[in-house]
Amino acid sequence: MLYEKALRSKKNVEALIERISQLKVGRRKIMEVCGTHTYAFFRFGLRKLLSCYVDFISGPGCPVCITTDSYIKKALILAEDKKNVIATFGDLLRVRTRSGSLEDMRAKGADIRMVYSPLDAFLIAKKNKRKRIIFLSVGFETTAPLIAATIKQAKSEKVDNYFILCGNRLIPPAMRTLCEDKDIRIDGFICPGHVSAIIGVRPYRDIARKYKKGCVVCGFEPVDIVWSLYLLLKQIKEKTPKVENTYTRVVKTGGNRRAQELLKEIFYVDDASWRGLGVIKKSGLFLHKKFSQFDAEKLVTKNVEESSLPKGCRCGEVIKGKIKPYECSQFGKRCSPNSPLGPCMVSFEGACRIYFEYGRGI
Ligand code: SF4
Repeated sequence: MLYEKALRSKKNVEALIERISQLKVGRRKIMEVCGTHTYAFFRFGLRKLLSCYVDFISGPGCPVCITTDSYIKKALILAEDKKNVIATFGDLLRVRTRSGSLEDMRAKGADIRMVYSPLDAFLIAKKNKRKRIIFLSVGFETTAPLIAATIKQAKSEKVDNYFILCGNRLIPPAMRTLCEDKDIRIDGFICPGHVSAIIGVRPYRDIARKYKKGCVVCGFEPVDIVWSLYLLLKQIKEKTPKVENTYTRVVKTGGNRRAQELLKEIFYVDDASWRGLGVIKKSGLFLHKKFSQFDAEKLVTKNVEESSLPKGCRCGEVIKGKIKPYECSQFGKRCSPNSPLGPCMVSFEGACRIYFEYGRGI
């Protein structure tokens, strides 16, 4: 309780802001990679409070936002088969493609169930042996170990009706892609706390070294955030880009070794498609041959082509941090959380949705 009080203390936040003001480095573009940070910035009013020092750019760390149309279309094809039950996190249901959404399919009678964890999907598979249970496996390094654990369990218990549709992505390759895009100017990164709990801080080192962008691994409380921003701005002032970690109560330098080993055992890393960012080298997790019996990809019976976003939707640019959500002409007009046009308005971690819920911030 005391700990939480200190991390939310107004006095501490004000003292750190005073230190930021003394750095005098001008207004810098800082990307928060993770949607949970975007949410925290708004929730605690930090965006407004720090607007004269930081131009906050939301990054690609919302799983629903970066999942491609072709992935959802494959899920729609799988949902057509009466033998299949689709198990998914709720947000994916509402993402529209030109072939409709999973929510539409469910309204037409497809067996699509919302789950809170891959373990729920695995248990549904164990109880419904006559059906094929397909878990829509999206997300980043945070959710992937639990998914890997269900695959390992399915193999050892010989559960042959459990499948996953591989769509997990890795954050550091996406950050490198953003650094290489000459149209995007980022002065530093607030690195995702949950992802870093798994991967540790080392994977960010080449971003600091090669691209000269500071990286600070950060928690989600106001003092965590303002302290991290101070360190980033100090790095900029001193021209010493490096990796720092202010979330040491959760993130260890080497990350979670057991989770990393489990990921290596079940998945291999290969090139993968991201909405807005295209194909990124070595950025996706796919099942090793030894576990290919659980791969739902082989159950997809039709060819699927990538299609563009709905007309007028600029999610691709929002995901890259090229525009702010309110710069999209559909924001708050044809597109709102009740009727999302693009994926960034669907999830609680989507930049458009957060901006909509909390106002423009700045
Ligand atoms: Fe897409 Fe809606 Fe965001 Fe515009 S406001 S980029 S239409 S999700």
